[in-house]
Amino acid sequence: MQVLNKGFVHLVEHMGGDAAVIRNARRCWRSESKSEEDADRKLLRHLIKKGHKTPFEAMVFTFDVKAPLFVARQWFRHRIASYNEESLRYCVANREYYIPEDLEGELLEAWVQQNEAAFDFYYELVNTYKMRREKARSVLPVGIYTNFYWTVNGSSLMNFLMLRTAPDAQYEIRMYAEAILELVKEVAPISFGEFEREVLKRGG
Ligand SMILES: Cc1cc2nc3c(=O)[nH]c(=O)nc-3n(C[C@H](O)[C@H](O)[C@H](O)COP(=O)(O)OP(=O)(O)OC[C@H]3O[C@@H](n4cnc5c(N)ncnc54)[C@H](O)[C@@H]3O)c2cc1C
Repeated sequence: MQVLNKGFVHLVEHMGGDAAVIRNARRCWRSESKSEEDADRKLLRHLIKKGHKTPFEAMVFTFDVKAPLFVARQWFRHRIASYNEESLRYCVANREYYIPEDLEGELLEAWVQQNEAAFDFYYELVNTYKMRREKARSVLPVGIYTNFYWTVNGSSLMNFLMLRTAPDAQYEIRMYAEAILELVKEVAPISFGEFEREVLKRGG
């Protein structure tokens, strides 16, 4: 799913879904055999309302993310997850940077000019001056795009979504969180539908 001007978030793999959460939760009451749709939905709603989070750890998701550095920096604060990020020690940075969609006219021109100049200098340092990539990257701005894989369980993902879809979260990371919510609702509709209704307090 595309996010911002050059970014994206894709769900590349997942383990488990609603069925895994229901199975694990029902172990508490020795009621695995009582599973049926209405009762299961009620059960998941109950878990979410009561903060009984561990059954949601039975779901695990891996996302492929391309986001501006400043978004990734906020994202990586979420410690209960695993990250693998493309390294600018080993790879040359692509000439790609965030452009807010509301920029226009002179301001847009100046924005592009500043970013292009930073990249021109970076490539000069790497190609002409043969500076190591790990040092040359320090002239690049925080709006450049980075790529990483993010592996996270359902419970920790709910914490991320609660914090990062909130109105006081920065707009740019909020756009990623909203996209992720849509993706996981497709693979675990009851868990994330109830989460949306009970915790985010909307539609669902
Ligand atoms: C709107 C907003 C503004 C923010 N502003 C700032 C800011 O100005 N400066 C700043 O530094 N950060 C800021 N943050 C980051 C914030 O403090 C958290 O680091 C970030 O949201 C990750 O949340 P988390 O710790 O719940 O997630 P995770 O790190 O994924 O942790 C999940 C849960 O595990 C538990 N946990 C994890 N590690 C520990 C631990 N060491 N000890 C005890 N429990 C643990 C906690 O219950 C935690 O909620 C901001 C976040 C938001 C959403």
